[in-house]
Amino acid sequence: MALRDKFITTGGEKNSVLLCSSTHHLLEAKHHLSSSGVEIELVPAPSGIGSACTTAIRFVRAKEDLVRKLLEDSSIEWTGIYPIEKKDRIDTWDGLWQLNLGSEFERILQKVAQDQVLSKEEIIILLQAQRSDELTALFKAASKIRAEMLGATVDLRAAIEFSNYCIKGCNYCGLRSKQQINRYRMSKQEIISAVAEINQLGIETVILQSGEDPWYTTDKIIEIIQEIKDKFGMKITLSLGERSKQEYKKFKEAGADNYLLKLEAANRKLFKQLHPDDQFKVRREHTKWLKELGYITGSGNIVGLPGQKIEDLAADILFYKEYGIHMIGIGPFLPAKGTPYQNHPPGDLLLSLKTIAVTRLVCQNVYIPSTTALASLAEDGLTRGLEVGANVIMLIMTPTILREKYQIYSGKNMVGLKTAISSIKKAGREVPGYIKQGI
Ligand code: SAM
Repeated sequence: MALRDKFITTGGEKNSVLLCSSTHHLLEAKHHLSSSGVEIELVPAPSGIGSACTTAIRFVRAKEDLVRKLLEDSSIEWTGIYPIEKKDRIDTWDGLWQLNLGSEFERILQKVAQDQVLSKEEIIILLQAQRSDELTALFKAASKIRAEMLGATVDLRAAIEFSNYCIKGCNYCGLRSKQQINRYRMSKQEIISAVAEINQLGIETVILQSGEDPWYTTDKIIEIIQEIKDKFGMKITLSLGERSKQEYKKFKEAGADNYLLKLEAANRKLFKQLHPDDQFKVRREHTKWLKELGYITGSGNIVGLPGQKIEDLAADILFYKEYGIHMIGIGPFLPAKGTPYQNHPPGDLLLSLKTIAVTRLVCQNVYIPSTTALASLAEDGLTRGLEVGANVIMLIMTPTILREKYQIYSGKNMVGLKTAISSIKKAGREVPGYIKQGI
């Protein structure tokens, strides 16, 4: 069965979730269940089950007896198995139907309210919303689903951009190899010091991001992962670009939890136009490997790329759904000086917000950041993202003297804790309890 069919045919039927007592036990359970032939998926725990932003294992309810038996025969500590019922929200979303919606638009939102799967054409219609009542309804629905799935808390994560060297030539990116910029690499000690600062704030996840820089060999990355785990026990997201399957495996074994590898565009032609050095097939295959290796997978796309059409954005959203992506970063294109796309206009704020909202409606219980790119495009970008379905903010915690050198696009906003907290409050949302400072 093709991967695409596998996710389509089994994804919707996984109607039970398992919660474990810790990430360690969760990953043990994931390994144990999948090697025993139970089809599972890691997903953010639905609202009301566990605390916000914990991860659960979703599986087909018909396999519940087997799952219980496998757990009982092992030393895995688990806290519960919960059914996910198909919901009918038509009555509770009453306010939406009072709005002046076109009949087709209303029918599609009613399908969402009843947990029915949307077609590509229906996704396109939602993305094309222009009239004020339709936009209100779309954003409200996305916000309601976000609240239902993940509650009011906004998860805070912090990125260390540890190298701006890159061997690739992505046409949109300010770090592409041909750019004449000051390059830097952080040493392991510098990275660990930056992680210590993040840890002091109470943040639980660090994102290690860089250009594609083979100077950081497998062993170097493993040493960094192990030291972070030993010293701080934090969750680690890697965002290093494409590596070999063996490397992904070794990083995972060393303790990496999440891997962020954005597809950027699910349209093959558009992907190729953006990435002269990458292959569409390879990028999708890497995404599949990462999932198979047990990573919590991150992907994402850029809105407003040269030549991009609305149907391309719908294809991006369907890709996330089909591949069971857990973290979806959506941001507007922003021109970077010196790149082939430097004169292309920035992506549209409203279209970026609509893409976030529709992604929330289609993928439902996933992490969606209100991205740095949104914050760079509009002053209230972070708040607006949170209002239309996002539930994560990623802080930039690269040492101050290096930040200016990690200009993936010009005018990048260095989102800090203060900005994040004020955006969360403006959106009427909650700062996570693990944050120890700056509230
Ligand atoms: N090199 C790694 C990779 O390619 O996955 C990680 C770092 S990459 C510089 C981080 C992300 O920046 C990319 O995935 C892309 O989505 C985003 N990005 C780069 N240039 C951009 C631009 N001009 N506008 C918007 N987003 C951009």
